[in-house]
Amino acid sequence: MATMKAIQIQRHGGTEVLEYVDLPRPEVTGNKILVKNHAIGVNFIDIYHRTGLYKVSLPFILGHEGAGVVEFIGEGVTDFAPGDQVVYMASDCYAEYTLVPSSHAFKIPANIKFKEAAAFLLQGLTCWTLVTQSYAVQKGDYVLIHAAAGGCGLLLTQLSKLLGAHVIGTTSNAQKAELAKKAGAEYVINYTTENVVEKVNEITNGLGVHVVYDGVGKDTFEVSLAAARRLGTVISFGNASGLVPPFTIARLADKNLRLMRPSLMNYVTTKEEFQKYTKELFDLIQENKISLLNVQVHKLSDAKKAHEYLESRKTTGKLILELV
Ligand code: NDP
Repeated sequence: MATMKAIQIQRHGGTEVLEYVDLPRPEVTGNKILVKNHAIGVNFIDIYHRTGLYKVSLPFILGHEGAGVVEFIGEGVTDFAPGDQVVYMASDCYAEYTLVPSSHAFKIPANIKFKEAAAFLLQGLTCWTLVTQSYAVQKGDYVLIHAAAGGCGLLLTQLSKLLGAHVIGTTSNAQKAELAKKAGAEYVINYTTENVVEKVNEITNGLGVHVVYDGVGKDTFEVSLAAARRLGTVISFGNASGLVPPFTIARLADKNLRLMRPSLMNYVTTKEEFQKYTKELFDLIQENKISLLNVQVHKLSDAKKAHEYLESRKTTGKLILELV
């Protein structure tokens, strides 16, 4: 039986539960394709799966996106052939091979490398749907983006700017602030030392922002509610600092706020949705409308290091695990 290397967990916990193991290579069937991975994207959700913040059935191979070469196709597959270079969303991605539903694979345009494709996909789709579907950013809007130098933060900043918004980013240090500015943030607030709500009010003449994109969660949720203007929107899309505690919806009446907690998976559930948004994303990349400002690369066997960096707020931009 063919085997492959993978990063698997047998229990939830710290980075010590990440094991670099030999597993059977998956067999391809039906509408699936078997991809030999070249690059795998690391996302915060991988940390939630490892720690158990999001429960999964064990043993579990982490990871939800990758890019590589199609090795085998199932009997029902018509859109792909062995040798195609693809980027995809699937489960079990921290591995040499991943079984991918063909509905959620996309041929990589010729001028884009595996690493770039994997670095863009999941966070790019998240941010593109956040600025077009969760709240449609309008020209002239004031947009507050927490953790603006993170993987999602840098893309959200670029996309909001592209749509004509004034971006106010928050970061935890000056080096991250510089990067957020490079991505297009007009203002950057250090949210560990400055009063974000006061600063936002100074910038917006006391009105607050039209929309807040909050992927930090527990530590920033109250700030997000306070920084939004009357009739504004708060999009809470993640929990890097922990889950937002239970909340009384009557509080939204203070300013007639809209509050949403979107998940990418519910925007790209069907083949049509995934293909549409992925094509739009890769069009933006090819037109040089968005770029990767920072990508940190580790070997698959060094996944522990990648998790440690991401969790300890030491990273900017995207983290990738490389295989070749
Ligand atoms: P990031 O690269 O943004 O890393 C997280 C950043 O959050 C850190 O760099 C740090 O920036 C900030 N942060 C603040 N407090 C903490 C803390 N206690 N621990 C760790 N980080 C903290 O990660 P991603 O771009 O991968 O993800 C960003 C968010 O988006 C996550 O919450 C993730 O779950 C969410 N997400 C949601 C999706 C969805 O479908 N809803 C899909 C993809 C991502 P700083 O040092 O500047 O504070």
